[in-house]
Amino acid sequence: MLTMPIPEYLQEILDNVHDNTSGEVADYIPELKAADPNPLAVALCTVDGHIYSAGDDSVEFTMQSISKPFAYALALQECGTEEVFKTVAVEPSGEAFNELSLDGENRPMNPMINAGAIAINQLINGPDSTVEDRVEKLRAYFSELAGRELTIDRGLSDSELTGADRNLSIAHMLRNYDVIADDAHDAVLSYTLQCSIKVTARDLAVMTATLAAGGVHPITGKTLLDARVCRLTLSVMASAGMYNEAGQWLSSVGIPAKSGVAGGLIGILPGQLGIATFSPRLNPKGNSVRGVEIFKQLSEDMGLHLMSTEQVSGHAVRSITQDGDTTYIRMQGAMNFSASEAFLHAIVSHEFSGDTVILDLSRVLTFHPVATRMIKEGLKRIRDAGYSVAILDPDDVLPDFTFSDGTLCRQLS
Ligand code: GLN
Repeated sequence: MLTMPIPEYLQEILDNVHDNTSGEVADYIPELKAADPNPLAVALCTVDGHIYSAGDDSVEFTMQSISKPFAYALALQECGTEEVFKTVAVEPSGEAFNELSLDGENRPMNPMINAGAIAINQLINGPDSTVEDRVEKLRAYFSELAGRELTIDRGLSDSELTGADRNLSIAHMLRNYDVIADDAHDAVLSYTLQCSIKVTARDLAVMTATLAAGGVHPITGKTLLDARVCRLTLSVMASAGMYNEAGQWLSSVGIPAKSGVAGGLIGILPGQLGIATFSPRLNPKGNSVRGVEIFKQLSEDMGLHLMSTEQVSGHAVRSITQDGDTTYIRMQGAMNFSASEAFLHAIVSHEFSGDTVILDLSRVLTFHPVATRMIKEGLKRIRDAGYSVAILDPDDVLPDFTFSDGTLCRQLS
């Protein structure tokens, strides 16, 4: 059986950022201040439900602000866009996450800052809901997205509530302007419990993949959100998910994202995959230092920047057929990360027989550099497993035929 190179690549990325110990763990929540600053993890989940991860991928941490986009999506799904827009706007504030601010219509600027998130939390489960029922609804929903039962870290929420003056003042401001009806303490309790739901990097990757896939869960295939809800959630993440670092983030990484003060960071490439990292030390804007580094590298290496103008492909593996001792793998369309992942996934799941494998690129249009590397790596592994491999490339779309070990792949004319 062949092995999948993506986890090795993810491990390499973690190795590259491992020694960067700059930044500080969040210090305004006593339990977070005392947290181990060292865990490091990355996980990906494609819209087809293939999960890849490396590092401390099963260490649990609290979602904190990463809960905001998921709560926003649930509010949109439950109440509809119109009602949600009446409560919270969709303008980037360019402000810190805990700023006390409202727009000209006395609405929080967006659902990614605390003012917006506290107001959104209050929309869940109807106006008469108790705090416990509202939080249970969120916990159950997040669990369905993650594919396992998530729990709440009540020690963490108690610890946060001992010094929640900032969020309490935001809640009082919201109540003063009739944005929320609940008692300010209940509103902050409800929001803080939402923030204290525990996940791993792998959970977050699976949860984000549903948003990437227009609301269809990548593993169960269940439709959990409308595609329009996902689009709107991703839009707000793109413009405001990284607070006052949002502009710089969109320029350098170029994907909708959300960070949390416990050190989690998620990113979503629409139609392709969800990504999550975990590393607790934060930069002065409250975003994970090594998480930001990992995302910059992934975006660059994997061609994930949304504003890049390359085509997105689907059904990249046209067919795998057998003719005597020869296996033909026919690819089609634009070769990007997803297309190469589909190729690698297909070859590691395939039972090869005979002695020769031919990769047919006659229907391939373009090769992103990541696809050149990944597809050649897959071919090399087939060769190393004892097959004679060759490439049919009549239109010269593959820029070079050299494997990572310097040997040359045979080209058919
Ligand atoms: N619970 C935290 C707070 O409200 C979440 C903030 C964050 O993750 N940026 O302060």
